[in-house]
Amino acid sequence: MLIDNGTHLVLSGNHAALSFAKTIGSEQQLQGPAEAEYPFVDLAADARWTLRFSEGRIPWWVFDKDRRVPQTGAIDYLPLARLAWTAADKPIGQVMNCTGPMYERFMGPFLRAALNIAPRDGSSRLAGALVRETLARGGRACRPLLAGDGIGNVFVEPAVRYLQGRGVSIMFEDELLGLHFSGRHISRADFKSGPVTLAHDDAVILAVPPYVAAALLPALQTPTLFRGIVNAHFRVDPPSQLPPMLGVINGTCEWIFAHPGRISVTISDAGRLFDMPRAALAQTIWREVAAVARLPETLPPWQLVRERRATFAATPEQNALRPAAETAWSNLILAGDWTATGLPATLESAVRSGYRAADLIGHSLRAAA
Ligand SMILES: Cc1cc2nc3c(=O)[nH]c(=O)nc-3n(C[C@H](O)[C@H](O)[C@H](O)COP(=O)(O)OP(=O)(O)OC[C@H]3O[C@@H](n4cnc5c(N)ncnc54)[C@H](O)[C@@H]3O)c2cc1C
Repeated sequence: MLIDNGTHLVLSGNHAALSFAKTIGSEQQLQGPAEAEYPFVDLAADARWTLRFSEGRIPWWVFDKDRRVPQTGAIDYLPLARLAWTAADKPIGQVMNCTGPMYERFMGPFLRAALNIAPRDGSSRLAGALVRETLARGGRACRPLLAGDGIGNVFVEPAVRYLQGRGVSIMFEDELLGLHFSGRHISRADFKSGPVTLAHDDAVILAVPPYVAAALLPALQTPTLFRGIVNAHFRVDPPSQLPPMLGVINGTCEWIFAHPGRISVTISDAGRLFDMPRAALAQTIWREVAAVARLPETLPPWQLVRERRATFAATPEQNALRPAAETAWSNLILAGDWTATGLPATLESAVRSGYRAADLIGHSLRAAA
């Protein structure tokens, strides 16, 4: 089976990721429910419910007990407004109460998945941006869209074809080993396959992970701490009653995804699970999946993917270390989800950084012409 390192999801309010997919012709492959619905199961309480956002900006859903989280009232959602408009960047735990059913059954899982960190330690500024761009815009910005056939089919291969169709040559497996400087200018890039000398009007967009960028550009400040994600995949036909995406409360599993012939599980900020023996972890996760999906406890064929440095740690301190796209070198622009996009490390952040880098290069080319 071809499986990704993680089940990638974007929200319908992620306008840059969606416009990118549209440009390269893969938008149709991002699939999700017609409305913003999130089924949940609470393993400790043995309870199931579906969170149903209302479409527009006025959050009617918080006034409807059949749409909002059980055991919550409309007033419990007021702290979201405070989070959305908080000025200073503080740990979320200092801006909102991280206890109670609204947090434990809704905001906690939402922020944990989006920021990939224990929410109380996460950056209130990044959380505020998420709330403003999705929840505050209503259900039409909150539909979960899955790259069902994998991120490669939606975001990578169509982009490669798009570029190749326009005469761009792409070299895979060709590591950038070093950059050479001439004053404020990058003059040479050394790849594994050999050096590339840059003409005066050539420019470089460096879109490598932060720890690689920091090694190539020692003067550059980047985030230094990371958080891991664990994904488990089980080769089994999901039962028809299992929704495509299910949030799990009070379990090791956090999100269960039903794909054709496979059930996958995502666990964010999963550092605690990295030293656990693989088979024991697969068994622990499967036991919960089997209970939720009403499947036999016998472990089916499985695979675990543990990404230690899945994203930078989305704390206020690490967020402050993210560099702008412009650098001290006139022909070098940075891109990547970890640059200062104002968003957590997501596909939306990565695409926006790419758009920004392209704009800056276009601007400098026009200025030079
Ligand atoms: C398990 C997991 C699950 C995730 N789930 C989601 C999700 O559901 N939704 C979401 O929006 N985001 C998700 N993300 C985050 C998302 O994958 C990233 O935000 C996005 O892929 C970052 O893109 P990027 O281009 O910034 O960086 P990357 O995709 O990391 O690209 C950097 C590239 O640089 C290359 N490189 C490194 N060193 C060199 C070198 N020396 N020379 C040349 N090339 C080099 C690497 O091979 C890589 O291709 C997830 C991430 C992980 C790990």
